[in-house]
Amino acid sequence: MINEYLVVYIFLTFIIWFIIASFYAKRYRDFVSSFLSSVDNVILITNLKRVVDINEKGLSFFGVSTIADFNSSYFSVASLFIEEEGCFGKHSLGKNWLKKIENNRDDSIKVKLLNQEDKEFYYFNIKVSKILYSSEYLIIFHNITKIVGEQNRVIRLAEHDALTGIYNRVKLNTIFPDLIYSANSYDKFFSIILFDIDHFKKINDTYGHTIGDSVLNELTYMVKNLLRESDMFVRWGGEEFIIILPITTISDASKLASRLRKNIEEHPFLHVGEITCSFGVASFNAGDTQMILIERADEALYQAKNGGRNQVVTK
Ligand code: GH3
Ligand code: MG
Ligand code: MG
Repeated sequence: MINEYLVVYIFLTFIIWFIIASFYAKRYRDFVSSFLSSVDNVILITNLKRVVDINEKGLSFFGVSTIADFNSSYFSVASLFIEEEGCFGKHSLGKNWLKKIENNRDDSIKVKLLNQEDKEFYYFNIKVSKILYSSEYLIIFHNITKIVGEQNRVIRLAEHDALTGIYNRVKLNTIFPDLIYSANSYDKFFSIILFDIDHFKKINDTYGHTIGDSVLNELTYMVKNLLRESDMFVRWGGEEFIIILPITTISDASKLASRLRKNIEEHPFLHVGEITCSFGVASFNAGDTQMILIERADEALYQAKNGGRNQVVTK
C-alpha cells in the first residue's frame, strides 16, 4: 500500500518538476531569443556541429531567413571568414578555434565577412563564451568596419607620398626586412633601381616650383605604367626614386632601367618638354643589408651622374 502511494508521489513530483523546468526553459529560451534579436551585433549560438540560434541581425547579414537555412547554406561558421592579412581565417584559426578564442579572451580576434545584404565586406572583433551547463558557444561579432577603415586610411597616409601618391620611405623601410629575409631564406632574389632627375633644380628655377611638382607627377605616372604589378615604386626623397624588382636578375633590371631612361628622354613633359634621368642598378647579394644594397645603387647612380647623366650604371 505504502509503495503504491510512494510511486504516485514520485510520479506526480516528477511531472510537476518537469512542467516547472519546461516552463523556465521556455522562458529562458524566449529571453535569449528576444535578447539576441534586440542586439545590434551579429550573434550566433553553435553546438560546434551546427548553428542552433542566430539573431535577426545575423539572419539578414548572412542572407538567410531561418537557422535551418543557415545550416544548409554554410558548411560552418569558420567557412564564412575571408582570408586576409591581419584577419583570422579558417586556416589561421585551425580546429577547435572556438575553444582557442574562448581561452584567449584578452586577444582581439579580427575577422572579415561578406554582408549578403549589401554585398560589402565588414570587419568584426569576435568574442566567444561557452554557455554554462551546455555544450553550446555564444559568438558575438562586434562591428569594427569603421575603425578598420580609419586605421587603413592612416596607414595609407603614412606609407604614401603626398605629392605623387606612390610609396614613401616609411613603406620601403617596413618591407625591406621581409625582402632581405625572403632573399636569404628562400632564394627570392631581387634587384633595385635608384634614379634621379637630371638638373631638376634648373626646372624649378626656370618654371617655378608648381611646374616642378607637375613634372614629378607626370614622371611617376609614366614610370608606374611601365612597371609590373609586383614591382614597388618608392619616392626616396626629392626628385629621387627607388624601384624594387622582385625575382629580377641584375641584367633584367638593367634592361628595364635602360627602357625607362629612353622612355623618359623621349616623353614630352607638359610645360618643360624634355627631361632626363640618371640610373643606378644593383642586385641583392648574400649578406647585404638594406643600407649596403642601397649604397651600392647610389654609387652606381653617382657614376651615372659623373659620366655625363642620362645613363644607366649597373653595380
Ligand atoms: P643633378 O642632375 O645632379 O641631380 O642635379 P639636380 O638639380 O637635379 O639636383 P639637386 O639635388 O641640386 O636639386 C634637386 C632639386 O629638387 C632641389 C629641390 O628644390 C628640388 N625638389 C625636391 N623636392 C621637390 C618637390 O617636391 N617639388 C619640387 N618642385 N622640387 C623639389
Ligand atoms: Mg637630380
Ligand atoms: Mg637628387
